[in-house]
Amino acid sequence: MNAKNILITGGSGFIGSNLCKKLIQDKKNFIICLDNNFTGSIDNIKELINNPRFQFIEHDIIEPIKINKKIDEIYNLACPASPDKYQGKNAIYTTKTCVIGAINMLELARKNNAKILQSSTSEIYGDSLKHPQKETYFGNVNPIGPRACYDEGKRCAESIFFDYKRIYNINIKIVRIFNTYGPNMDINDGRVISNFICQAINAKNLTVYGDGNQTRSFCYIDDLIDGLIKMMNSKKNFSGPINIGNPTEYTINEIAKIIKNKINNKLNIIYKPLPKDDPHKRRPDITVAMKNLNWQPKISLNDGLDKTISYFKNKLN
Ligand code: UDP
Repeated sequence: MNAKNILITGGSGFIGSNLCKKLIQDKKNFIICLDNNFTGSIDNIKELINNPRFQFIEHDIIEPIKINKKIDEIYNLACPASPDKYQGKNAIYTTKTCVIGAINMLELARKNNAKILQSSTSEIYGDSLKHPQKETYFGNVNPIGPRACYDEGKRCAESIFFDYKRIYNINIKIVRIFNTYGPNMDINDGRVISNFICQAINAKNLTVYGDGNQTRSFCYIDDLIDGLIKMMNSKKNFSGPINIGNPTEYTINEIAKIIKNKINNKLNIIYKPLPKDDPHKRRPDITVAMKNLNWQPKISLNDGLDKTISYFKNKLN
């Protein structure tokens, strides 16, 4: 294999920084990490900054960019991804990042004849009426609700990716990422696993939204990274979309109890209002990934949580 220049947008974020660390292990790879640190952080990539095969460029993908190297692969990961961060006052910016950001990166891919992987999301399925979710399901998204900036933004990005494939024959790859957790999540990220772990370490009550009977299926970051790289390396005409996630499903009440038991069993669980349009059930059907990428998650929730808890303990102390 030849040397490759790989561009990662959102490269200082949770998923991006873990992907940078994995890809730089291959001595043939040169990594260009693009981020405006809106939700990412230099702290996540500090051990890479001095590596001669790593370049950080502070840039917002809603602006076009020229890179003075021939790019071979683009992982488009840039976007706020926690409901806490993508909604509310950031909603318009979220849609711009999803849509204008996707167009800018597709243009870069077109000019460089590069492969481009889009980080799509299980939110494509909205408050799903089918369970588990298969890639063939068109979804149940409220187009005018508070989550729509992200859900519809990511749906529009998938549509633009397929138009670039149809019109310009770009080699696109679309991965629908389900709930993921692990080291390099921000302490203030706002998603459930990081919230519960940080609350428990700080001896605060765990905040369950709604009655806690809603479900999610949580994938450890290393498994996701493995899936992303396998998808990038898949054969030319395989574009997906493909679900990458862990199909073991838990209620949020179960997750709260598991984390409480691991950190401090004396803490209480308190109940807060359920955010509008919060999906009731979510579990990926990963048959397509198993068949086409020979991929399935390997890390159990128990082991993944232990690694994540030790990361946050270290961060918070
Ligand atoms: N949630 C919760 N407590 C929290 C944060 C989230 O009960 O402190 C719930 C949230 O309402 C949702 C689930 O946990 O039902 C997963 O939320 P998260 O924000 O992690 O991701 P989502 O799957 O909603 O994008």
